[in-house]
Amino acid sequence: METMLVRTGSRIQFVDITGQVREVIARIATKDGVAIVYVPHTTAGITINEAADPSVPEDINTALSGLVPHHRNYRHSEGNADAHIKATLVGSSVNVILSKGELVLGTWQGIFLCEFDGPRSRTVMVKILPG
Ligand code: ZN
Repeated sequence: METMLVRTGSRIQFVDITGQVREVIARIATKDGVAIVYVPHTTAGITINEAADPSVPEDINTALSGLVPHHRNYRHSEGNADAHIKATLVGSSVNVILSKGELVLGTWQGIFLCEFDGPRSRTVMVKILPG
């Protein structure tokens, strides 16, 4: 398993980590299988979506914030209940097919760390299941 750190710069931010994941994959001997990209956090997530047009992750964040506003009569007392809910909606991992040492992603797809309670330093783990 490989671990990488991602520093986020604002409370809510989608960070395209595709390049960093590719760098990690390049260091791993296994060239075929499934790459699991996982965040061990309760207020951040991982998703795959369009990386070419930055307005796409912005629109996703706008829609998520419409569904789950920052302030509501949440019971969680830390003030970040919205971040926990968004992290659950997005999920904490993605699986990407690894073929001949390359991530199998569509032309427009990228892997995003979804920050919902930053800025923070986030850990992203990459594990290859050979096959
Ligand atoms: Zn909390």
